[in-house]
Order: sequence, then C-alpha cells, then structure tokens
Amino acid sequence: MGKSQEIFREGEKYIPGGVNSPVRAFQSIGSTPPFIKKGDKAVLWDEDGNSYIDFVCSWGPMILGHNHPKVYESVVNAAKNGLSFGASTEVEVEMAKLIVSMVPSVEMVRMVNSGTEAVMSAIRAARGYTKRDKIIKFDGCYHGHSDGLLVAAGSGVMTAGVPDSAGVPGSVTRDTLTAPYNHLEEVKDHMKRRGEEIAAVVVEPVAGNMGVVLPKPGFLEGLRKLCDAYDAVLIFDEVITGFRLAPGGAQEYFHVLPDLTTMGKIIGAGMPVGAYGGKREIMEMVAPLGPVYQAGTLSGNPVAMAAGFAQLCILKEHPEYYQKLNETSDAFFQEIEKITAQSGKVCQVNHIGSLGSIFFTGEEVFDYARAKTADTQAFARYARYMISHGIYVAPSQFEAMFLSLAHTKEQLDRTLCLAREGFSSGF
Ligand SMILES: *Cc1c(COP(=O)(O)O)cnc(C)c1O
Repeated sequence: MGKSQEIFREGEKYIPGGVNSPVRAFQSIGSTPPFIKKGDKAVLWDEDGNSYIDFVCSWGPMILGHNHPKVYESVVNAAKNGLSFGASTEVEVEMAKLIVSMVPSVEMVRMVNSGTEAVMSAIRAARGYTKRDKIIKFDGCYHGHSDGLLVAAGSGVMTAGVPDSAGVPGSVTRDTLTAPYNHLEEVKDHMKRRGEEIAAVVVEPVAGNMGVVLPKPGFLEGLRKLCDAYDAVLIFDEVITGFRLAPGGAQEYFHVLPDLTTMGKIIGAGMPVGAYGGKREIMEMVAPLGPVYQAGTLSGNPVAMAAGFAQLCILKEHPEYYQKLNETSDAFFQEIEKITAQSGKVCQVNHIGSLGSIFFTGEEVFDYARAKTADTQAFARYARYMISHGIYVAPSQFEAMFLSLAHTKEQLDRTLCLAREGFSSGF
C-alpha cells in the first residue's frame, strides 16, 4: 500500500469518506486519491513521490500556476502582520476597487469566504431588492451547496423544485424553479406563468459543473431580455468563468451584463474567498446600508485578500496573458478532438478559453440531459489511465479540465502524447 492510500485509509476513520469535499474521494472513477504534498507551477507531487501535470488547478483558482512568487510573497508579508483582526484593513478597499475596475457590471462588491456563500448572499440581495421569493436555476448548473440551490431537475410544467440532497426541506426548495440549460423557451414559460414572483435568474454563463457546456448564441442575451421584461435580477455565477475567460469574466467575453455577479476560485488565488457584487442600487440593500443581512467573521481576511489581490493585479496588468492562454488552450483542445476522432471512440470535446471537457458520448452536449448520456465507465478508464501516467485530470466526467498560464508547451505536448496512446490502446 502506498503512502497516499495509507493516509486515505486513516482519514476514512475520522472524516466522512476520508475527504473534506466529495469529489476528492475519486469514487466516481472507482479509484482512491493521491494525497498531494506540494505544487509548483503546473506540477503536483503526491506523498508517494509521484509527479503530475495538473489539469485541475484546484478547480480553477491556480490560473497562474502553483506557488507563484508574487502571490507567495504577498501572502507571507501579510501573515507577518497578523492573520485576522475582525476589523477593516486597507487591502479590502484595494481589492474592491480592483474588482470594480475589472468586472464590467460590478459597481460595488462584498467579500465572503466561498462561492457557496457568494451565491447564497447574492440571491438574498436579489430577493430583498425585488421583494419577491422565487428564483430560476438551470439543471446541471452548480451554485454551491446552500439549501435552496440543491434542487433536482424538474420538468417544464413543474412549478416547485424538489430537494436534490437529503436534509434539504421541501419548504426551502419550493421557491426554486428549474429549467434546462440553453432552453430559453422554458424560462419564457416560467416568466409568463409567474414573472411577477420571480426575484432572480441565476446561471453559469458557461456551465462548468456538468462538464463544460457552452451557452448557445442568444441564450445569455435572451435571459437578459427576459429579466428586463419582468424586472427580475439576472445573476451570473462567475465563480469559474470570472477572471478566466477574460479579465472581466464571461460578461466581458460575451458582452452580456448581469445585474449581480458571484465570484470565487480565482479571486482567492487558492485561499478560501468568494465575492458578490453588481449594481449599486442592489448592493446598497445589503447591511449595514440596507435591510438584507449578510456578515462574516473572517470575510475580507487580510491574508486571503493579499493572495487574491496579488493574483488579480497580475491578471489586470497583463491582458495579453488571456490571449495567450486562450490560444494555447484552443490549440490543445482541438488536438484532443483530433485524437478522440482518430481513435474511433465516440466523444464530444466541449471547450472555451482555458476550460474544456471530453464527454464520452455521441450526442452533442448542450444541456444536462445530453451530458448525462456520457458513458461514465469509459470516462473512468480514461481518467485512471491519465492519472496513473502522471496527468492529473478531474476524477469525474462532470467536471472541467483547467489550463493555466504555467503549463508549458512541453507539458501540453506530453499530455497529448499520452492521450493519443491511451485513446488508441483503449486504456
Ligand atoms: C465552485 C463553484 C461554486 C461553489 O464555490 P465553493 O467555493 O466551492 O463554495 C459555486 N458556483 C460555481 C459556478 C462553482 O463552480
């Protein structure tokens, strides 16, 4: 038994499933996880001394790669002054200013500690602002694990959401309506039926939690129009796309502006950080200015802010990085597409910018129903093959592959070479 496996077995005695977030258990690929000891640039090392080219990048935050010297230095310097005061620090104001300068629709922003908290709070602000209760979310979009968002996919005629997790009361999900991703008609139906009750439509502008699913042309624009027509708040959950597709996220990339934006992952550079922001008149509803209560003992923590601020500064100063990253990633995923096609395996490669996924299905994947046609056993064989050959891909068919600015041409070529061997040998 390797050291990772030993630690995992020990962990299982004290932590549910041995992990602090379920996907890390590697259950869906029928395997056990390597325990990571350290990371540098695009490489991870596990407790057994194996190294991996990292395509998870902490699920997105490490867009500059691991252990970036400027981020590291900023964190160490902040830590020297103390870890937390529960009082305001200057870096919080600098951070807010920086976010407002980068994200087109954001005029004011509040820091929180996770993406979950960001979306939960944005929805509360939207409800407080509109004085309405219902929200619309899309099947297969993930917005963190707050009660009201753990809702199973419904059918078009359903007017109330059904809990997707034990422990979530039906009374909480009753106000969450669902629609399939990319199906504007169903949103229109909801709006026609009960537009006056709908506080917000929340959407991942590029879905990244059912694998990568792109919005069809007109989908985001259509949501914008519907929200305008019914005075509902449009919330873009940019926890993955924010600062990734462009300095200003998906809203800059697609030129569609939401009313509220939720952020996480890249904004903390690997520290536990989230944020929500948007139109001034909505954000002014939040306490202490307004009646919508939201707080956090460690929100805006100076060490976390130091990490995120350093990373965002670098990204803002170098808009050309995005062109480079997106071009490199395009070429990479196009090559993956060729490899899968030549192997005769039925696969769909969805990608945009530095996000992509390989669906093991013959169906074009534009919603959750299509994503679920994927052969997860075939995916599991592929993922186990890649990981055992030193390529750390997400251990689930329904997660994205993330590229970073630290991935070198040699590392990407090596990955393609292994993928070619794997796909042609059938893993
Ligand atoms: C990861 C994620 C969240 C939840 O963020 P946590 O920091 O894990 O709570 C919310 N929305 C989207 C789109 C995400 O990808």
